[in-house]
Amino acid sequence: MSRKPLPILPGAKLPILPGATLGILGGGQLGRMFTLAARTMGYKVMVLDPDAASPAGQMADVHVRADYTDSAALKQLGEACAAVTTEFENVPAASLIELAKYCRVSPGADAVAIVQDRSHEKAWLADNGFATAPFARVNAEADLDAALATTGTPALLKVSRLGYDGKGQARVGTPEEARAAFREFGGEACVLEGFVALEREISVVLARDDAGRCALFPVAENRHENGILDVSIAPARVTDSLAQEARETARAVADKLGYVGVMAVEFFIAGGRLMVNEIAPRPHNSGHYTLDACVTDQFEQQVRVLAGLPLGDTRLLSPAVMVNLLGDRWHDGGPHWDALLAHDNIKLHLYGKETARPGRKMGHFNVLDADPEAALKLAEQMRHAL
Ligand code: AMP
Repeated sequence: MSRKPLPILPGAKLPILPGATLGILGGGQLGRMFTLAARTMGYKVMVLDPDAASPAGQMADVHVRADYTDSAALKQLGEACAAVTTEFENVPAASLIELAKYCRVSPGADAVAIVQDRSHEKAWLADNGFATAPFARVNAEADLDAALATTGTPALLKVSRLGYDGKGQARVGTPEEARAAFREFGGEACVLEGFVALEREISVVLARDDAGRCALFPVAENRHENGILDVSIAPARVTDSLAQEARETARAVADKLGYVGVMAVEFFIAGGRLMVNEIAPRPHNSGHYTLDACVTDQFEQQVRVLAGLPLGDTRLLSPAVMVNLLGDRWHDGGPHWDALLAHDNIKLHLYGKETARPGRKMGHFNVLDADPEAALKLAEQMRHAL
């Protein structure tokens, strides 16, 4: 594991102080919360996103409505901003390289290129000695039999690129099902993963600065429904030694990637052991509890690391439970906010999305309570009451 200080990223005199303009590629909810954090601290924010109604665009000083590959738009962003970051991994690495001609960019294109492709990510993890679920790359239908022999069944076939929140994933039990799923995904490159009997899922959000210093947030425990995060519990209900191992592993992943920025590492726990599931080169849904429960939240941390400021204190001030609000709840006039807001220890965050669709992340709420079990109980109650 390398602990050598890294050279400062080119393109800006650090630290970048309030008054300067920061940019973000992508205008979804993560971009919106970055924008709010940056504006709270006195920065101006420019968002690049093609969607006129983008959640982050609504909050930004300037919303450039263009595609992430539009070189004129990238130039506009790069010339106006002292530094630019991204809110999602599917920004083409080439756009980050293009932007870096004009300004400081974090995270760097190299790290994003590894993690935006599941095949590369899994291979990189294995090559660097990080435990994962058994997997095999599937580039053509002819690879499936050998892949199934590696993973066993049941297995999950996942598209390598652009899959998220359980999209582009199919559970397969036989070679025929695997072939049908591969064809359904249009014959795109995939990864086949052995289906792991999960005891729990946990994640670690961290920030790593130019000098290789890391600040890690407390470990979150995550429950998913239909492949989408449903509930996060902080601190995770795991042994101290497992929590410590998760933090050390997340840090080692960031070090090996030479990462600068905020990132998350998601883990499976199976047979009492940790396996890395995924790396996200950005703040993460499982870190939304930090908005209300930590001294510094993950979006302020993203601003700090982008601006070259010292990393903020990640201390947990209160146990917290985060519940995602998906578009599925928006029928019959929408959720009963009065029931939720009647509680003085619940914090509501809505993302300003105009159209609700099943599975679409519309917002979340955090329940804070000194007693973690009481927080979870109220969160469950509200999940059903809404
Ligand atoms: P992913 O998009 O790959 O993170 O998958 C979304 C969710 O699906 C995970 O958080 C798990 O709950 C579940 N999942 C994904 N891969 C596996 C696996 N190999 N074994 C068991 N469950 C999985």
